[in-house]
Amino acid sequence: MSKNVIIIGGGIIGLSAAYFLQKEGHQVTVIDQSNMDSGASFVNAGYISPSHIIPLSAPGVMKKGIKWMFNSSSPLYIKPRLNLDFLRWTWAFNKSCNASHVKKAIPVIKDITLLSQRLYEDIQKSEKFSSHYQKKGLLMLCQTEHMLEEEIKIANLARSEGLDVNEINKEELRVLEPNVKIEAKGATLFKCDSHSTPHEFMQNMVTYLKEAGVTFYTNEKVEDLEVVNEMIISVKTNKQILKADEFVLAAGSWSYLLSKKIGLKLLLEAGKGYRIDNSSETGISIPAILAEAKVAVTPMNGYTRFAGTMEIAGINHIIRKERVEAISKAATRYYPDIHLSSKEKSQAACGLRPVSPDGIPYIGKSSKCDNLTIATGHAMMGWSMGSATGKLVSEIISNKKVSMDLEMFHPDRKF
Ligand SMILES: Cc1cc2nc3c(=O)[nH]c(=O)nc-3n(C[C@H](O)[C@H](O)[C@H](O)COP(=O)(O)OP(=O)(O)OC[C@H]3O[C@@H](n4cnc5c(N)ncnc54)[C@H](O)[C@@H]3O)c2cc1C
Repeated sequence: MSKNVIIIGGGIIGLSAAYFLQKEGHQVTVIDQSNMDSGASFVNAGYISPSHIIPLSAPGVMKKGIKWMFNSSSPLYIKPRLNLDFLRWTWAFNKSCNASHVKKAIPVIKDITLLSQRLYEDIQKSEKFSSHYQKKGLLMLCQTEHMLEEEIKIANLARSEGLDVNEINKEELRVLEPNVKIEAKGATLFKCDSHSTPHEFMQNMVTYLKEAGVTFYTNEKVEDLEVVNEMIISVKTNKQILKADEFVLAAGSWSYLLSKKIGLKLLLEAGKGYRIDNSSETGISIPAILAEAKVAVTPMNGYTRFAGTMEIAGINHIIRKERVEAISKAATRYYPDIHLSSKEKSQAACGLRPVSPDGIPYIGKSSKCDNLTIATGHAMMGWSMGSATGKLVSEIISNKKVSMDLEMFHPDRKF
């Protein structure tokens, strides 16, 4: 049965949901408070990475976060705040940083990411998108023996999960990347990973959806939800009131603000990340993570992107120069011939990753509301998991058999 569906948020999650919902014959409207040309879904590193099987909340991460709290140029920065939502999130994050949670999370993260990768490939092909998409793998470049040992352990774990990954020595690295000088002791190569140029895909998707009859309201903010007997009747924006049968909350880092309107305290923190684009010929042909610096490097269509840092400091878009500098310095440390210019650094942009406390997104309906499907909290993996999330949302709303067990994604789960 065709339904009227309103999607709040036009990032990768909202657009993916719109794509699969309109395919099922629903009437879809997307509302976004922005112009839909910036934010996490545009500044990300473009990885579709089944390699990232370990959730952010892993043993030792909280300890590292505390150590790095006093260093504002560290890869992970958690700014202490006297705010109840932040304290509840920190408590839940700390609780999730354990081996048994990681063990339970790995197959779920792997399955949703692999499903997503297949769906991205299907969309690119069946809609004839011109956006850049390649499957050249992902290198984890290590400069220290210790990091290389750690990465090899992760590679072994990933291999035992059926992923295609191997170790690469210095000589093999030179053969793989002949056109750029790399300073590394060795690497692992996840051949299973692919990469893309995010803004191209987002533009292609918006154009496709408009042609398919999806309505867009941009620069329009959803301010309130009218809820009667655990059902949303309408959304109130700063411009109008809109009614629908079903609603999707895909508002990224802002989602917790609207979840409160249905009485759900969604634990979510914004994790700010930055990107610097370099349009000169770098010689880099394979995406890489600079393992010690936690910087992602992606050869995109026409430029190389350097992206990184996770700054948990509330919702703000302040560009901190020391973080941009840390990414730039890391680039030169691993690729000695690459120097990001002052102009490139001054054009750095940031986006907010919606971070759940346990490294697993929220996908599904809360018991608090019958016609709201929540789809957020993907943290560092939102690009990778985007299309699968959209498909799951569409299956939920269409009352179809879901492609994956949704238990671990439940928005009402306890930490
Ligand atoms: C530097 C960086 C690098 C990254 N690299 C990768 C990567 O390589 N691979 C990967 O898988 N992931 C990556 N990520 C993570 C990924 O980009 C995010 O998880 C993903 O973009 C989140 O998508 P989203 O649609 O949930 O949120 P968003 O992209 O933030 O979209 C949410 C939208 O909701 C709108 N909105 C919010 N509130 C309202 C409201 N009240 N009314 C109307 N509209 C509203 C916002 O304007 C926004 O457009 C990276 C992120 C960053 C920052």
